[in-house]
This record gives sequence, structure tokens and C-alpha cells, in this order.
Amino acid sequence: MKNLFIVSGSSGSGKTTLLELLSRDLNIEISVSFTTRNKREYEIDGVHYNFISKEKFKKMINENLFLEYENVHGDLYGTALSSLKEYIDNKKLLFFELDVNGAVSLMNYYPNNTVSIFLSPPNLNELRKRLVLRSTETEQEINKRLSRFEEEDNLKKEFDYNLINDNFETTFEKIKEIINRHKKED
Ligand code: 5GP
Repeated sequence: MKNLFIVSGSSGSGKTTLLELLSRDLNIEISVSFTTRNKREYEIDGVHYNFISKEKFKKMINENLFLEYENVHGDLYGTALSSLKEYIDNKKLLFFELDVNGAVSLMNYYPNNTVSIFLSPPNLNELRKRLVLRSTETEQEINKRLSRFEEEDNLKKEFDYNLINDNFETTFEKIKEIINRHKKED
């Protein structure tokens, strides 16, 4: 059976909202990453991320506390080994929202445990529109996020599933079906 479900995709592909609702609906926890980025107003420290300084993050890297970490849009994001142990040992279900590189690392570490889903926005214009509507980033930050789109798109072939998030309910149901199928596997 597979117990680690990774969802990845471009910033603005809708993955955070989808995962939050799936987590509630299926009663599956979401792995809480560490990051050096500034907290958004609605975010809660320890729930959405563990928000830490660059110095603390670097110290954790030196102490080998991360399973994987990446520099995404100029900030550091990482998955701590300690938070995973319980899930690996007990085959407990867990969601991950990771950038493409982090997702590929996790798949390579735990090929027998992971199911990976890449979520694409319907098109680039739609992606820009979503990022502008969200208004959590400046114009410059939005452009930085969009410029990663190609790199992210190139890695999507590594994933078990490629979905286009053009309709929230349909995507929600598709992911739910994927999870239900894999958690029943031997
Ligand atoms: P955001 O700043 O929008 O919350 O996240 C930016 C990107 O970092 C997203 O693609 C998100 O999936 C990714 N991310 C969040 N946590 C981690 C992590 O622990 N490791 C990696 N590699 N990427 C992460």
C-alpha cells in the first residue's frame, strides 16, 4: 500500500486549497514544512509552515535534519526527517505539497510508499490571473513564480499522475479516487 501522497505543480495551480479540503474530507494530515519565507496574514505558524529564519534553516541543513530542501523563488523550503518517521514506520497516510524538485527527491527516497500527482493550471494566462487575484505577491514576485513554469512543466513526466486543474470539483474527485485506489493496494 502507498501512504505518502505528493501533490506538486506551479504556484497558483490551486494545490493548496485542494489539499486542505482533501485533508479534511479524507482525514489525512498534511506534512508541515519549514520555510524562510514571510508568513502570509492568514497563515498560522506550525500549521501551514514552521516559519524560521535563514540562519536557523542553515543550521538545520548542517545538522542533516532535512530529508530534502529546495530554494524556491529565493526562499528555502524543506521537509524535516523527524516529522516523517512516524508515518514511514506505521504506514500512516500523509499529504505533501512540494515543489517539483522536492517531489522528485521524495519519490526517489521512498519509491514504494509514494504516489505523485502533478497539477497544471489550464494555461499560463489563467495562472497569472489566479496569482493576481490572490494578491499575496507583488508583480515582481508573480513574474518570478511564472518564470519557473517551464522548469516545472518539464519535470511533470516524472510524476505518476498529471492532472489539469480546470475544474475544482472534478480535480478534487480525481485525486480522491487516486488516493482511495492506492491505499487499498497491497
Ligand atoms: P508557497 O510560498 O506558495 O507556500 O510555496 C512555494 C512552493 O514551495 C510551492 O511549490 C510549494 O509546494 C513548495 N514547498 C512547500 N514546502 C516545501 C518543502 O518542504 N520542500 C519543497 N521542496 N518544496 C516545498
